[in-house]
Amino acid sequence: MPEKKVIIVTGGSGLVGKAIETIVTAEGSEGEKWIFLSSQDGDLCDYKATEAIFKKHEPTHVIHLAAMVGGLFHNLSHKLDFLLNNLRINDNVLQLSFETGVKKVVSCLSACTFPDKISYPIDETMLHDGPPHPSNFGYSYAKRFIDVANHAYNEQHGCMFTSVIPCNVFGPHDNFNLESSHVIPGLIRKLYNAIEKGDDKFRVLGSGTPLRQFIYSLDLAKLIIWVLRNYEEIDPIFLCVDEQAEVTIKQVAEEVVKSFNFKGDIVFDTTKPDGQYKKTASNTKLRNYLPDFQFTPFDIAVKETMEWFKANYKTARL
Ligand code: NDP
Repeated sequence: MPEKKVIIVTGGSGLVGKAIETIVTAEGSEGEKWIFLSSQDGDLCDYKATEAIFKKHEPTHVIHLAAMVGGLFHNLSHKLDFLLNNLRINDNVLQLSFETGVKKVVSCLSACTFPDKISYPIDETMLHDGPPHPSNFGYSYAKRFIDVANHAYNEQHGCMFTSVIPCNVFGPHDNFNLESSHVIPGLIRKLYNAIEKGDDKFRVLGSGTPLRQFIYSLDLAKLIIWVLRNYEEIDPIFLCVDEQAEVTIKQVAEEVVKSFNFKGDIVFDTTKPDGQYKKTASNTKLRNYLPDFQFTPFDIAVKETMEWFKANYKTARL
């Protein structure tokens, strides 16, 4: 009988972890035991707590999503915390994976850790080609450490530790807090509040012109599971929609409006900053592996996220 895979997912209670759980539950997982962890199962900044998790579950495979994540202002004011907590989390997870003979680790990097001054579209080879944006250098260097460590574990010990780089993720179980959310859950929450108050204006910060690539968390989950089962390179791979699927913030706002069937006006507050105009990433490497992968159409993904938010308003992260 083939040996059973035991897969632990660190950060299993977050946006991406919950999406993986949904896909695994829907599609089945014969020969695999999946365990979804949260910070309640142990603080991964702490070596002893991390060791206890590995002893308890004896994983053969690890999907490592857990991270201290935060918006721009939190990053700006807590660079040392973002650096040290994420370095500790990543170091503990990789070290214990090595010490306990885990066969494969898939960790999560982020497109926002790429060099600040770079040509677009960015691809996987450019990760270390210059310093990250000063606003989040603590988080960025801790993320880049994963790729450096993956290569070092492989070259010194032959470990199969790799990583993925998602573009902006959204979907059910996202953070809908008005202060710290990303753009799509933030706009969904804002319009929900506006409709509740009977407002006929939907106010969106900035000009609406910046371009972004968004991946639906359930699509990302399918791709991460594919990476776990099939991808054999140490180098990272972008898990990102095609360049042609890039949308403006204005288009995002319009999709959110459509999803709520809101009949009022969108007002762009151009006194607020826009951030970088674009940060396009190339998914050529992914497309070489999976030329036929179908991403969920953006309008359907936004509508499903909005419906999840409305149905789970009482328990969502607000
Ligand atoms: P969430 O913020 O939704 O979830 C974070 C997860 O990490 C939670 O399960 C949390 O547990 C856990 N966690 C945080 N700190 C610790 C700790 N000290 N010990 C144990 N567990 C901890 O994150 P996402 O799902 O959005 O992100 C997953 C990964 O994807 C991250 O590595 C992130 O950097 C990366 N990523 C995300 C993008 C996005 O747009 N969301 C874009 C690109 C990359 P608890 O619930 O108990 O707090």
